[in-house]
Amino acid sequence: MMSCGSGARPGPSPRMRGRPTFQDVLPAPTQPLPRFSVEIPPPDLSRWRGGNCGIPGVIHLEATRPGPHVVLTALIHGNEYAGATVLDTLLRDDLRPTHGRLSLIFANLDAFARFDAANPVASRFIDEDMNRLWCRRTLNGPRQSAELDRARVLLPVIESADILMDLHSMLWPGAPLILAGGAESGRRLSAMVGDPPLIVSDHGHRAGPRLIDFERFSAPGGQAAACLLEAGSHWDSGTVTATQQAVHALLRHSGLRPPDRSPPAAAPRHMMVTDIVTAHTPRFRFVKPFRGGQVVPRRGTLLAQDGPDEIRTPYDDCMLVMPNLRPGRGQTAVRLATSAPDPAIRNGA
Ligand SMILES: [Zn+2]
Repeated sequence: MMSCGSGARPGPSPRMRGRPTFQDVLPAPTQPLPRFSVEIPPPDLSRWRGGNCGIPGVIHLEATRPGPHVVLTALIHGNEYAGATVLDTLLRDDLRPTHGRLSLIFANLDAFARFDAANPVASRFIDEDMNRLWCRRTLNGPRQSAELDRARVLLPVIESADILMDLHSMLWPGAPLILAGGAESGRRLSAMVGDPPLIVSDHGHRAGPRLIDFERFSAPGGQAAACLLEAGSHWDSGTVTATQQAVHALLRHSGLRPPDRSPPAAAPRHMMVTDIVTAHTPRFRFVKPFRGGQVVPRRGTLLAQDGPDEIRTPYDDCMLVMPNLRPGRGQTAVRLATSAPDPAIRNGA
């Protein structure tokens, strides 16, 4: 189980306990998800299914000159294929790293194969969320699932990564961002990429550790670094563009591709998650359809009702990170973030 927040929250808890009313103990009415439009077609990945290194869906590209092992993972969530579209383009364009090794991973191809534009949210995973199982105990344990079995097959590549970027997208509308996790190495990597220019440090989900939280990337003093890109709405063409930009920035800054003449990007904004708001009831409802990245200026503003409880901003200028407008009971409904110092400034570098 992940810890919640950093203990540095500048304000009270966002949850104000209320007394349950008769309404609150009734079963919640089921609310259907809205129709999500699918603008981009799923890529044809049949050429890469077999991989080139003995692991299905994994392609290694080697340079002759030494350099870091950079890993790009797409399809950790089977229905988030903008990242897979970008990796497919890199491969079709015959991209070659100038230094080091680049590994491209199509993670959950079996879930992706089930994608259906008529029900695009259904193929996120087969048995369980593949981004909640990255700890030794789970990976080495006896439990089996489609996603755990696949994670075990991918593990040798993950274990040898120096730099990893995990490519994701979002169901609900919101500004693209880089999740840096809780480690200093992740914050530095995210700052180095800097595109999109919004970096959010956090401590994961209560439901289990993400790939970027895996010990290789989060152990204190560790040399490997990982970050997670949330590039925009799952099936929006702008999400492919945002992913392309982030991937190219990563490859340039890690030395696998030569620098280009693009002007330096604006300094990114750094935020720190202070609170993870989990839905305690099936009745969790936001008071309006907030967007991810939206900043609520006033402390005490009502954000949501969760059965008898009210969820309010605990401090001024509170950023809502990826609100889930229809959370199930026990799911993350929103993360709340406050401004954090730039790690380069903090370390005097
Ligand atoms: Zn995802």
